[in-house]
Amino acid sequence: MTHNCPICGKPTDSQRDADFPFCSERCRLLDLGAWASERYVVSEPIFDQEEIPESDRRVLRETQRKPDETIH
Ligand SMILES: [Zn+2]
Repeated sequence: MTHNCPICGKPTDSQRDADFPFCSERCRLLDLGAWASERYVVSEPIFDQEEIPESDRRVLRETQRKPDETIH
């Protein structure tokens, strides 16, 4: 099975390359690093909270509470 390295685009072979689908350990670690930093950015809630004005946040909370009230 052949595949292009997701980092540098070099063709790799599952029978030959130990780091398949990456062409080398370096590209595999680069991909892990990119994934980890992406996760870090996603878990930062700073932008979401500051972009929503206080009045809209109250509306959001009330909208989220409604399903609970119907259950009780
Ligand atoms: Zn590569």
